[in-house]
Amino acid sequence: MPNDNHYDIIIIGTGAGGGTLASRLAPTGKRILLLERGNYVPREKENWSSAAVNLQARYNTKEVWKDREGNDLHPHTNYYVGGNTKFYGAALFRLRREDFREIRHHGGVSPAWPISYDELEPYYTRAENQYHVHGNRGEDPTEPTARCPYPHPAVSHEPRLQQLADDFARQGLQPFHTPLGIMLDESAPHKSRCIRCSTCDGFPCLVQAKSDAQVLGVDPALTFPNVTLMTDAYVERLGTSLSGREITRVRVRRNGEQEELSADIVVVSCGAINSAALLLRSANDAHPNGLANSSGVVGRHYMGHVNSVLMAVSKCPNPTIFQKTLSINDFYFGSSEWQYPMGHISFVGKLDRDALLAGAPAIAPGFALELMGQHSLDFWLTSEDLPDPENRVTLDRSGNIVLSYRPNNEEGHKRLTAKLKELMKNQTSCPVHGHDCHQGLFARSLYTGARIPLAGVAHQNGTIRFGLDPKTSALDATCKAHDVDNLYVVDGSFFPSSGAVNPALTIMANALRVGDRLIERMG
Ligand SMILES: Cc1cc2nc3c(=O)[nH]c(=O)nc-3n(C[C@H](O)[C@H](O)[C@H](O)COP(=O)(O)OP(=O)(O)OC[C@H]3O[C@@H](n4cnc5c(N)ncnc54)[C@H](O)[C@@H]3O)c2cc1C
Ligand code: SF4
Repeated sequence: MPNDNHYDIIIIGTGAGGGTLASRLAPTGKRILLLERGNYVPREKENWSSAAVNLQARYNTKEVWKDREGNDLHPHTNYYVGGNTKFYGAALFRLRREDFREIRHHGGVSPAWPISYDELEPYYTRAENQYHVHGNRGEDPTEPTARCPYPHPAVSHEPRLQQLADDFARQGLQPFHTPLGIMLDESAPHKSRCIRCSTCDGFPCLVQAKSDAQVLGVDPALTFPNVTLMTDAYVERLGTSLSGREITRVRVRRNGEQEELSADIVVVSCGAINSAALLLRSANDAHPNGLANSSGVVGRHYMGHVNSVLMAVSKCPNPTIFQKTLSINDFYFGSSEWQYPMGHISFVGKLDRDALLAGAPAIAPGFALELMGQHSLDFWLTSEDLPDPENRVTLDRSGNIVLSYRPNNEEGHKRLTAKLKELMKNQTSCPVHGHDCHQGLFARSLYTGARIPLAGVAHQNGTIRFGLDPKTSALDATCKAHDVDNLYVVDGSFFPSSGAVNPALTIMANALRVGDRLIERMG
């Protein structure tokens, strides 16, 4: 009798990692099950409402985690088909070639990866094609070599951003067009799926034009009859054989009921925090410290980048609708005055009154938030944080997620911020008013200070690191668990270091790479 609850492959989580892997494996004809704790993002007008998204946090999980002091943490993360890519800003960067090697930072060492850039390069190309990346190859001074141009031309700058790009270039920098995964056709706007709106970064796309892992990963996979998706299917625990070498049971909670499923191969892709939590919850006699955790690294080395949002507010209005088109990497590896990496500068989506209300009331007293939103340039600064074993995911006695994190490697970020302030002092006159518009650069964060707080786990990674040595890593170079023969992890957990560009394209490319290894394994 065939067992209906047994599959060739079960993939847990449908975000950048799981959704992309599903699309790669679907054509194999293997019986594949996708388990997703969330459901589809409802398609409704609120998708594009700044008040609903920013003020009411309509789509965030209501789950409460704890920080290291036991305080409640309301994580800014989303549980839906497509995972966090439903909400991402779709800036789709390759890591730099150097990021795969050991790099010395001011705050310590960023460790090498067990694979080189060249091994991932073909998969970056495939991921860029699958996710419709728009960009201009060769503009970014730190970009690694690539075998092909971007599949689509760069998204153009609106006039205020073009003026800024020209100003930066005049100051000797090499500003470039941010590589973006949106399905925009500027040559035929009447046919373009993307309408270039102001509610993209942080919002789900009402017209399904964002290159997310539901639209371009899960949906195509589900056109194959051998692929099934179960939504509202929360994986509580993975069980093993007595030896502990194979996963034999996947315990799911669905509609209040528990179900047991099994598969020849189980792929975990719940996001770096939830994947670590799942392995820790699955401790048993053969794996007393958590599944696949003989090294003790599961949950450790949590990274999330050192991120800030900085607003440059001036008299000069910024009527830009789609702001995320411009980036600067001139300080990625340092500068003539500073030998250590500083990081990456780009933009967030245009902030408006509701986004500002959700975050930062007293930035510039007397400056009405609405006016501020109309005049600000809203920068996103990212620097690398280093993998500290004490920055980690654990579970408390009730099984709740505890996220312990102390920021590190902050000096480069401070210097990056200072660089941007300096650059902004030297802007040319306003095209509208004809005078020097610059008034000041105000720190702005959704919560406190300029830095994104711990609850901002958008760039989470590193908690189930891959490596060559089973004593210091949980996964081998193919992202298979060292300790378990049929367990793989393909979300952002596998990063041993995180560079300073956004992580999603690397997660997608790696999922395609692991997909190829799985296809070889299954014959
Ligand atoms: C507002 C925002 C903006 C961002 N902008 C960018 C950007 O511009 N560029 C970029 O590169 N990155 C960006 N990111 C980050 C990017 O979205 C993530 O790096 C990426 O989605 C991570 O992929 P993942 O596969 O690791 O996890 P996710 O995409 O988070 O997917 C994990 C999935 O697992 C499911 N899941 C979790 N636990 C369980 C369980 N126990 N059982 C079943 N299912 C489970 C979740 O519901 C989710 O669907 C942004 C993120 C946010 C929130
Ligand atoms: S229409 Fe385009 S710009 Fe607007 S949310 Fe969708 S992908 Fe983003």
